[in-house]
Amino acid sequence: PPRLRFAPSPTGQLHLGGLRTALFNHLFARRFGGKWLLRIEDTDQTRLVPGSLESMQEILQWAGLDWDEGPSSSSSSSSGPYVQSQRLDIYRHYSEELIKRGKAYRDFRAHQDEDPDAEVARRAVARGNMKRNAQEVKRDNERARIVARKGVQQYVPPDEEHAQKLIKSGKGYCVRLRMEPKETMFHDGVSGRLLFKPDIGVHDPILMKTDGWPTYHLASVVDDHLMGITHVLRGEEWLPSVPKHLAIYSAFGFTPPTFMHLPLLMNKDGTKLSKKTQDVHVSVWREMGYEPDAVLNYVSLMGYNHHGEEPVEHTEGEGNAREVLTLKDLIESFDPLRISRHRAVPFPPKLDYLNKRHLLLKANGPPTSSPASQSPDDSSRDGLHALYLRALPALKERFSGAEQAGLLTESYIKPVIQEMIGRVLLFKDLPYEARYLFEEPDYGAILSPEQIKKKGVAGESGGSAVSAAAAAIATGEKPDPFTEYKTRKVRKGTAAAARLPRFGEFIERAYKTMEGLSTSGGNEGGEWADRETL
Ligand code: GLU
Repeated sequence: PPRLRFAPSPTGQLHLGGLRTALFNHLFARRFGGKWLLRIEDTDQTRLVPGSLESMQEILQWAGLDWDEGPSSSSSSSSGPYVQSQRLDIYRHYSEELIKRGKAYRDFRAHQDEDPDAEVARRAVARGNMKRNAQEVKRDNERARIVARKGVQQYVPPDEEHAQKLIKSGKGYCVRLRMEPKETMFHDGVSGRLLFKPDIGVHDPILMKTDGWPTYHLASVVDDHLMGITHVLRGEEWLPSVPKHLAIYSAFGFTPPTFMHLPLLMNKDGTKLSKKTQDVHVSVWREMGYEPDAVLNYVSLMGYNHHGEEPVEHTEGEGNAREVLTLKDLIESFDPLRISRHRAVPFPPKLDYLNKRHLLLKANGPPTSSPASQSPDDSSRDGLHALYLRALPALKERFSGAEQAGLLTESYIKPVIQEMIGRVLLFKDLPYEARYLFEEPDYGAILSPEQIKKKGVAGESGGSAVSAAAAAIATGEKPDPFTEYKTRKVRKGTAAAARLPRFGEFIERAYKTMEGLSTSGGNEGGEWADRETL
């Protein structure tokens, strides 16, 4: 069975791209009965951000991406520890091993930690998929050639005896892999066959830095091997590292895993999606109140064709109902061949659409016509129950009288949720949207049918939806005085009344009040005029 890993560096918050990588690892593992582990790559101690490990784990848990092995796994699982800073002895051992075999050497020259190739590669990556102009490519290649000519290649490392003397005398060194400057061909699970020219950044990569810490390259390869990783599924920004990784695998005689690189996330104008942009931090959506299912669904659309079609540019319109998929749906339908090679451009309005649809799914179960859906079984009832439990505290807090009025019961709130859920973007907006179902109307503000006709208004400034509904009842459901918009509200109001007995009572009383008004001549001069009750 496949074994995958999500290997973030704890250098900040989990962002959009990271969540997508974690999701696809999860989908792959769950779809094919495998496992995935969470590995923390903290060997670049200068970039650590305190607390980011905890916050990343928390966000993954919030999203429902449950790893099988990870930092807090019990020691009985054999491939740990899963935090690289706790594995330094292992990397040292493996790097010594390569030196012994003559595959790597100690480099005693001063200031060799700055890997010029890495610099070139980094800049190439930073530019991402953007079309680099020929001039730039030429410059990079030229630079890499100069580096190769006067740099590392000409260094003759001391023999072992001399090396030991130098070490004793306190001289620092880094460890480099001997790497021939030749082309690397390999097969990427997403992009197919790729050929890397040696020009860009593939000479004698550093394995161990002078401070005794491993580089990402060594640690990643050693861990993927020791942890039995069969598929490395990660972002395309790591593609330029593959030739180095393959060279390390081959130096050890390890079999490399299958590599699969997810397409880059880009801005519309083709620039790299900036981590500085607030909305790429997953925690921001969480705090705003988006559903985790919707967020996962949203990132699942980035660089993946759910229906095997060519990717469409998301421009207008709300979205495609066929794209509304729960985590369960995503797992069941996952097919690695549908990972796209095309860059993906996030389209935030899509998240709004998905959030609404996921709320509807939870409250009412999948629509019967939906092709991907299961029958509205226990899972949708659980969804409604979970929404009820979430709503309860907010309703309690907002409507002080509702408890005594007997409105905070499961049997009242659940239909309210089902009735109102389609009107909110975020679940936390529900108490506001449903307020006329929890507060008795101010009957004193209700207008008589005559007044309504005279003013040409109801509902909006003249009272609440209840009064509008009552007016509709009073006028025999012939809502002439209402505008199109208000009419719709009235209809919804009466429909709700039929389903919600307590609300029906409100309307009934409102109706009685109104009858009284139409015989007594109304409450002209009442306080309705500036009320903002709906
Ligand atoms: N530590 C790398 C990161 O932060 C992981 C790269 C990989 O998956 O090999 O993204």
